Amino acid sequence: MYFQLQDIEAAKLNIDDPDHLRIHSLETFGTHDGPGIRMVVFAQGCQFRCLYCQNPDTLDVKGGSLVEIEELVKRAVRQKSYFGKTGGVTVSGGEPLLQRNKLLHFFKRLHEEGINTCLDTNGRLNNHQAQELFDNTDLLLLDVKHINDKIHHELTGLTNKNTLEVAAYRESTGKPMWLRYVLVPGWTDQPEYLEEWGQHFTNYKTVERVEIIPFHQLGSQKWELLNMPYALKDTVPPTAESKAEAFAVFSKYFKNVILK
Ligand code: SF4
Repeated sequence: MYFQLQDIEAAKLNIDDPDHLRIHSLETFGTHDGPGIRMVVFAQGCQFRCLYCQNPDTLDVKGGSLVEIEELVKRAVRQKSYFGKTGGVTVSGGEPLLQRNKLLHFFKRLHEEGINTCLDTNGRLNNHQAQELFDNTDLLLLDVKHINDKIHHELTGLTNKNTLEVAAYRESTGKPMWLRYVLVPGWTDQPEYLEEWGQHFTNYKTVERVEIIPFHQLGSQKWELLNMPYALKDTVPPTAESKAEAFAVFSKYFKNVILK
């Protein structure tokens, strides 16, 4: 269930201060971004430009609305009984790391209220502030979009170096993560790179799950509405064979592979 931001009084604010998060939207009873039932906060702004992005309306760092962090905490507390033992709050995006300091405060507040935290990130940053946020994140959902840096650059506009460093940092802390991989025909379905991706992470002890997310076209109209050129408008979703092949390759390297 998505909420329009107009129903949040604080969204009317047009100031940017440490107590307000810039968000695109909120989802309650989310079941796709982390374990259990979750409130999902979609942060506004992203520096990647993934060709397949299905939420191009989250990219503009000046878009979205400013919402008071304490208002989000209150909403999460109201939903706490639905979260059960495994659910909680996920911050996705856009790219949450752009607001890492504010999110550190948000996650600390959620922990004070006994609420589990997940961060869904492309791993663009691995500096001290980002690491402090990772340390306060119960479960990291890390999108590793391609193992080959050149193709990663072509696909997202930026290097995968930082993302791989974030994975290594998380591994060094011993805290859990799920790795996510969007399967895009012609871009991320090459068997040799799926193998390389699997080999890179196979010895990681903190990887609890690998999720394969098949490319889809559900957000394609957003590109049109935003008047942005959409390079993958003619790309079709992966076939059953392609999904099965990716699943088989990753299953050689990881015990828990989920095809979404
Ligand atoms: S990282 Fe996510 S939000 Fe950013 S461009 Fe890629 S798919 Fe879109």
